[in-house]
Amino acid sequence: MTLSKDLIVLDLEIARSPKECRFCGNLRAAHHMLSGGLLCPRDDTSVEGSTYTELGWHDKAALGLSIGGYYSFLSDRIIWFCLATLAETVQRFVRDQPLLVSFNGKAFDFAVMRAVLLASADAAVIAQTGIADHAEPIGPSPMLIPIRTSVSEGPYIVPTPVLLRNPDGVEEKPGVVNTHGYHGLCDAFKTQCTQSFDLLESVWLADPGSKHTGGLNTLRMLCQTNSLPYDSPDAGATVPALWQDGEFSRVLNHCADDIYMTRNLCQHIMATGTITRSNGAIVQVERPPGLLAWWLEWVSGRHGL
Ligand SMILES: [Zn+2]
Repeated sequence: MTLSKDLIVLDLEIARSPKECRFCGNLRAAHHMLSGGLLCPRDDTSVEGSTYTELGWHDKAALGLSIGGYYSFLSDRIIWFCLATLAETVQRFVRDQPLLVSFNGKAFDFAVMRAVLLASADAAVIAQTGIADHAEPIGPSPMLIPIRTSVSEGPYIVPTPVLLRNPDGVEEKPGVVNTHGYHGLCDAFKTQCTQSFDLLESVWLADPGSKHTGGLNTLRMLCQTNSLPYDSPDAGATVPALWQDGEFSRVLNHCADDIYMTRNLCQHIMATGTITRSNGAIVQVERPPGLLAWWLEWVSGRHGL
């Protein structure tokens, strides 16, 4: 095998449900109806007087990261990452430039990674310097400090990430990482993400008429209709609650299932260039040339051709 780059398939789980209250972390039903609105139930001065405010999908930094993982074709295993290892994971991606594959990663997973990394870096800078919007290199810090800088971050702590420390190879790309700290790192990662292969996006492009058909384009449904293994009905909405309840193994298994389903669907698309829809129609899916070249080299290497 002479492949110099890896092909990785990434998925992550968020730490908070979009249905949670931004201030107290409880669902709507746990709030007390008063004339001024739905009052937060928590006996906590930091949320005193606050009313139910749905977190929603937009604030990706607030949704947070519980666990993420990616399948590496070259090492044939899943590699996990969390808040403490998010920075070094993104650094490794920017340094090694693997081909990235996801299911809705452009709009969600990769965006969550960048938002959480920037938010935790900014929180770390505020904690260390008292100055917000610090865009210069932060410098090495060996500490992982649980901190909570404001009520708006909700009831969950934001640990200080492992800060940038000139990892091997970064110097080969002057200006990408070291001169701009986390913001430069996230800019470089964003560029990489825009070039990634997003399976959901590719299905939408191949079959635009079905984009808004409910249930048709879930990862499980696509695996099912293409005769690929799929797990039990979608439990994605309950994952943040499982994480908060300490049921970490269930969250890891759910994330691993999604990673393997995404990998299998990617392999199916690379091998056939098609997707079968639930009505039996087979539609052509555009395969990125760089990824297709990688795939052909991978397959020929595996079969000793
Ligand atoms: Zn509340």
